[in-house]
Amino acid sequence: EPLLSIKDLVKVYGKSTRALNGISIDFYPGEFIVVIGPSGAGKSTFIRCINRLIDSTEGNLVFDGDNLEKASGSKLRKERSKIGMIFQHYNLIGRTNVIKNVLHGRLHDTPLYKSIFGFFKHEDKKEAVELLEKVGLKDQIYKRADELSGGQMQRVGICRALLQRPKLLLADEPIASLDPISANIVMEQLHNISKEKKLTCIVNLHQVDYAKKYASRIVGIKKGRVVFDGKPAELSDKI
Ligand code: ADP
Ligand code: ADP
Repeated sequence: EPLLSIKDLVKVYGKSTRALNGISIDFYPGEFIVVIGPSGAGKSTFIRCINRLIDSTEGNLVFDGDNLEKASGSKLRKERSKIGMIFQHYNLIGRTNVIKNVLHGRLHDTPLYKSIFGFFKHEDKKEAVELLEKVGLKDQIYKRADELSGGQMQRVGICRALLQRPKLLLADEPIASLDPISANIVMEQLHNISKEKKLTCIVNLHQVDYAKKYASRIVGIKKGRVVFDGKPAELSDKI
């Protein structure tokens, strides 16, 4: 049974930019999928259609048994709370400390008046600390986020997404702004977490070498179409 089932997904920007040109694909629990393709292929549009940051033009999405395409209002918020996001530019609050940034992963489940005063559940705080320890940020917990390196910021981004306790993790070019050493650490940690928690991850990358190294499944996109779908070893050097 797929966790996410996508049928005939089309996204047209403006009058004629067909960013997605009919994508049908199923993703299964625990898969570590890397989506590769050149700039402009439609990778980012694909991710944004999945978490409904944008509306698709045509097509159908079924996520965790629910039809996401028709979801709106509170139903959409509930669906989105099951989808963790990791961004190229981290999207942290720079002047706020690391642990509070991570606790923002629980905002969807924290009453507004409590979050305003920074009152999070003890169990959430404990889990946030454990996650930060796991990614090697034990000593940075009370630092301001803007004092961290890019690689450290992205690891905070991972912890924030995980604290949401998602069923699906989406990462749009998570290592595009990082040096190779930090990029490997981030990919390694994402890969290990996916394996350990049996968490489905869909990661957009434009670097084929990282995809081959870490993916359990590679999906190649070109001009809004799937041109490859298989194991890293099956990927020819042409793509
Ligand atoms: P990738 O992430 O693979 O680089 P994108 O999904 O960003 O690809 O873009 C796919 C195509 O859609 C490109 O031709 C891009 O210029 C276009 N595009 C992306 N976002 C928009 C937008 N907001 N408005 C119009 N065209 C867009
Ligand atoms: P990235 O490299 O992170 O995908 P881009 O430079 O492609 O960033 O896009 C940055 C923003 O501009 C995005 O919000 C994207 O949707 C939008 N965008 C991309 N291409 C176009 C386009 N052809 N027309 C209008 N907006 C676009």
